[in-house]
Amino acid sequence: MAHILDGKLLSAQVLEEVAREVEILKAERGVVPALAVILVGDDPASQVYVRNKAKRATEVGMLSIEYRFDADTSQEKLNKLILELNRDPTVHGILVQLPLPSHLSEDEVIAAIAPGKDVDGFHPQNVGALASGQPALVPCTPQGCMIMLQEVYEDLRGKSAVVVGRSNIVGKPMAMLLLQANCTVTIVHSHTVGIEEICRRADIVVAAVGRAGLVKSDWIKPGATVIDVGINEVYEEGRRKLRGDVDFQNVEPIAGAITPVPGGVGPMTIACLLLNTLKVAKEKSAFMKRNGLATEAM
Ligand code: NAD
Repeated sequence: MAHILDGKLLSAQVLEEVAREVEILKAERGVVPALAVILVGDDPASQVYVRNKAKRATEVGMLSIEYRFDADTSQEKLNKLILELNRDPTVHGILVQLPLPSHLSEDEVIAAIAPGKDVDGFHPQNVGALASGQPALVPCTPQGCMIMLQEVYEDLRGKSAVVVGRSNIVGKPMAMLLLQANCTVTIVHSHTVGIEEICRRADIVVAAVGRAGLVKSDWIKPGATVIDVGINEVYEEGRRKLRGDVDFQNVEPIAGAITPVPGGVGPMTIACLLLNTLKVAKEKSAFMKRNGLATEAM
């Protein structure tokens, strides 16, 4: 039986620590970390994500500011708001909920966000900084996966890790973080030949694909750690359910540790978003203090 990595519990611990630090920042520097979230259109899943992010931000004592635009809003209008938020010293984190309606350019929107406020870690400057081992705002989902791996391993050095999926938001940054932790990393994707065999040799398998139950029990080495990023809506016995990319029922008896879906990586993602927002607020406050500047206007 595998050790179940409980994302609800772990994220609650992270959020508790964030709330404690927010309190200190308020008391000592008069700074309230603020997160601006922009939602375009009425995609039901995006609405739920945005609501959850705002709720958690408020719970840890941050200021959550939501901006909602109609689905047919223009790129110029969106860019204009982002530029205003970039300039606003009281806003620490800016996040544009993806996906955007097809007439809008996600690349342009991401590039418009000031890298220092890019709490999703998607701006090319943060991507480059992560890849070259410099300080960066790191994408939230892979960051959450790394916290979960720390529950299993004191040191990841020398572990062989396979990341299934190569998206910019999960697969690639995940591989970068594992590499930074001195793992031997392989990325497999839709064109890889022999995925099963490659995964079977791994100590750690991270699945970020978007195909329910893709990773089967014969892909997994006994005792390996399996991190399931996938969130897939399926209908079973006429009911809507959320399933991961891993065939949990059959993989769990073989794995050493595994994340469930739901209740695994998902809650860690929001916790890491707030960790990033706190990081921006703390660094800015420290900068102001070092330079003898007041923080009242932050
Ligand atoms: P994506 O569609 O951008 O990328 C999927 C990747 O999987 C691609 O690189 C593709 O090459 C690869 N792939 C597709 N079919 C494959 C196959 N048969 N075998 C191997 N690789 C294959 O998806 P994404 O944005 O990276 O998200 C992946 C999953 O993670 C989705 O289910 C998404 O909902 C979920 N997700 C969860 C969270 C969270 O907080 N838990 C956050 C982001 C994404």
